[in-house]
Amino acid sequence: MAKENHPLSLFDSHCHLNFSDFDNDRLTVLTRAKQAAVGRICIPATQQVEWLSLINASELWSQVSPVSIVAALGLHPWFIAGHNPGHLKVLDKLLQQRPARVVAIGETGLDFFDRNMTPETRAKQLALFTGQVELACLHQMPLIIHGRKSHDDILKVLRRYKPGRAGIIHGFSGSEQQAGEYLKLGFKLGFGGGITYPRASKTRHLAATMPIDSIVLETDAPDMPLNGYQGQRNEPGRVKLVAECLAKLRGVSLPEVAEATSHNCRTLFRI
Ligand SMILES: [Zn+2]
Repeated sequence: MAKENHPLSLFDSHCHLNFSDFDNDRLTVLTRAKQAAVGRICIPATQQVEWLSLINASELWSQVSPVSIVAALGLHPWFIAGHNPGHLKVLDKLLQQRPARVVAIGETGLDFFDRNMTPETRAKQLALFTGQVELACLHQMPLIIHGRKSHDDILKVLRRYKPGRAGIIHGFSGSEQQAGEYLKLGFKLGFGGGITYPRASKTRHLAATMPIDSIVLETDAPDMPLNGYQGQRNEPGRVKLVAECLAKLRGVSLPEVAEATSHNCRTLFRI
C-alpha cells in the first residue's frame, strides 16, 4: 500500500538519454526529471559503439545529476546493418566484467515492420536476438526487448530458452493473448506515451487490466511523444504524465502506481 506521505519516486525504465538529441541540455533534462519525481532512469544502448561510453556516462551522470542512472547493453534491430556476430563476443566479455550500473541486456528484439525486408536481414535479426537471449541466460541478466510485428517470433525464442530473470517487453502494444504469454514467462510489460492517446484503446485496456506487478513505466525518450506533445522531443520527466494516465486508467492513485512500478523495476534489475 502506498503511504500518502511517502515522496513519489518514478522509474523511467527506457530512455535513450545518451543520444545526441540531449547533448546540449542533458543536465537540465535530468533536473526537470527530478522535479517531476523521477528518481531513476534505465538507458538501453542500441549499438556496440555506445557500450563503453554508456558504462562511463551512467556513472558520471549519476554523480553530477539528481537522478540515478542504470544501463543496459544490447544490439537494437533498427541498426541491424551495423551489427555483426563479433559484437556478441564483445558483449559477453564486457558482461563477464560485471560493469557497475549495467543491469540488463538490451535493447534487443525483432522488428519485422518493414515488409520489404530481405530474408537475410530477418535471419540476421533472429540470430542476433537469439544470441542476446543466450547471453542473458549465461550471465543471468534480464532482457529489454523491442518487438514490432514480431511478438510471436520473440515468444518462440523465449519459450525455447526460458531466460531465468526474464525482462521487459518495452512499449508493449501487442494483443491480450501475447501479453498473457509474456507474463507466463515472467516478463513485465513497459507502457509509455502510447497509452496517453485515446485511440490506443486496446493498449489502454491492457494497461488498465494487467496485474500491476507486471507493469513498468517508460518514455523511450527522445522518441514516442505523449499526446499533446507530438512533434516535440520526448524527455524522461514526462514519465510522470504516463504514470498519471495509468493511475486514471486503473482508477488508483498516482502514488500507488509510482510505488508499484518503481518497485517492479528495482526487483527486476536488482537495485
Ligand atoms: Zn528504445
